[in-house]
Amino acid sequence: MLADLMSPLGLHYSAFIPVLQSQGTDEQIAKWVEPAQKLAIMGCYAQTELGHGSNVQGLRTTATLDTNTDEFVIHSPDLTAAKWWIGGLGIAATHCVLQAQLVIDQKSYGPHIFVVPVRSPVDRKPLKGVTVGDIGPKAYGGFATVDNGFALFDHVRIPRENMLMRFAQVTRDGQYIRPVHDKLSYGSMVKLRVGMVADAGIKLGKAVTIAIRYSTVRRQFHDTAKKDGSKKDELEQQVISYSSIKHRLFPLIAVSYALLFAGQSVGADFQKMTKQLLNQDASMLPEMHITTCSLKVWCTRRATDGQEECRKAMGGHGYSQFSGVGQIFAMAVPSNTYEGDNYVLCQQVGRSLLKQLQTISSGKKVETPNSSYLNLLLSDTPHTPYKFNDPYHDILDPKVQQHIYGLRAARLVADLGQQLKAGRPWSDVNMECWNICFAHAEYNLIKQFNERVASVSSTTPVLAEPLTQLANLVSFDFNFV
Ligand SMILES: Cc1cc2nc3c(=O)[nH]c(=O)nc-3n(C[C@H](O)[C@H](O)[C@H](O)COP(=O)(O)OP(=O)(O)OC[C@H]3O[C@@H](n4cnc5c(N)ncnc54)[C@H](O)[C@@H]3O)c2cc1C
Repeated sequence: MLADLMSPLGLHYSAFIPVLQSQGTDEQIAKWVEPAQKLAIMGCYAQTELGHGSNVQGLRTTATLDTNTDEFVIHSPDLTAAKWWIGGLGIAATHCVLQAQLVIDQKSYGPHIFVVPVRSPVDRKPLKGVTVGDIGPKAYGGFATVDNGFALFDHVRIPRENMLMRFAQVTRDGQYIRPVHDKLSYGSMVKLRVGMVADAGIKLGKAVTIAIRYSTVRRQFHDTAKKDGSKKDELEQQVISYSSIKHRLFPLIAVSYALLFAGQSVGADFQKMTKQLLNQDASMLPEMHITTCSLKVWCTRRATDGQEECRKAMGGHGYSQFSGVGQIFAMAVPSNTYEGDNYVLCQQVGRSLLKQLQTISSGKKVETPNSSYLNLLLSDTPHTPYKFNDPYHDILDPKVQQHIYGLRAARLVADLGQQLKAGRPWSDVNMECWNICFAHAEYNLIKQFNERVASVSSTTPVLAEPLTQLANLVSFDFNFV
């Protein structure tokens, strides 16, 4: 059971080391990564503060350069600047990669990342100037095995070399050198979101496996169609035979597979992008950013709603801790909030697609594959329903599925563009962005699922039929807006 729970070292491996690797110079990687891999130091990712989470530009912790001593001074000006929620910081971490406002000569250059020691690796005592501890229990008893922590810094001095400088740099004489591309440092956030997609599929898969096995052995009521005296001793009906149980659980199997396939696909794209980023080539970044943001929003929402549905589908016993589903949900549900709150992330998807809409408005085609559906707008007649020849047959055709999901997403983006043009303020269109984010994710999920069916069918024909059924199920499950 413990093997399935999260550990205080989770973010050491999923955030601390990857951030060092992707944002550190070669010398910084040589200095920090090996001790981290040997657990001589343990790390965490300290971005969120008590007063600011989503608004990263609003972070209050400062890292002020002191050119006399060639150091940065890390400081929390008030309680709202306390780092908060940081996984691994409560007890375990000796170091953090810390987001703080870089200040040189009283000028702020925005949030940058610094390696900051917080505890002695020898006796785990907090270092001078650091107030650090655990933030306490979390909702639903979730994350009980993770020491989410807080930290305040009182003029803590670190060497200048502790700022991660693969992209932006600060020289010995206090010069700030901008990164070649201002979004180069987003790579590590993309990585975390990439990992979340398949992970959501696995966790939903576990919950739905439990619920389906239970529904197969659970029996309630005799089959009313067979009500005659002679059938009195027959077993009651398996609850899985009820249409409402099938309706609630079977699509979740398909969704689990959709998330696994999408996770593998964005994982492969991420590897490609990482190689390019190391050479300061950020051309794949905008597309990867919106793909991973939209999938992160979709997978966390859909998987955790699905886990809760699994619990309900098991009746009273689902609510027992022993069903295991409650624990899966309790661990997974904050994923709607961390790595970017879903309702905030979906706005980034909306904004990016609106930028691409400008390409369409100028009569040109969008080249990026995951949003190429916008090209449908070049020949679309708005508000005209899609014309099926034979709806019951056409809807099973992957090309038709892709087309109608693409058309829906494209029309939602075009509609948002019109509304903003007509003067609706950005803060009023949150739900339009939410719908666009879901539509974008669903277009890509169905595209990737159908591509996977095609490739698996050629290598392993026996899987073609069940995978096709799952692809159809997942496409019927999407809620059209
Ligand atoms: C279990 C868990 C683990 C975490 N681990 C870490 C960690 O290791 N390191 C770390 O740095 N952080 C961590 N976090 C923090 C997490 O990243 C933040 O909680 C998250 O970014 C949201 O920020 P917030 O809590 O300040 O919410 P807020 O930004 O205050 O959001 C509050 C509400 O306002 C809404 N909202 C905010 N801005 C807008 C907007 N512009 N438009 C529309 N709605 C808006 C949100 O949707 C939300 O409903 C963790 C959080 C949790 C729950």
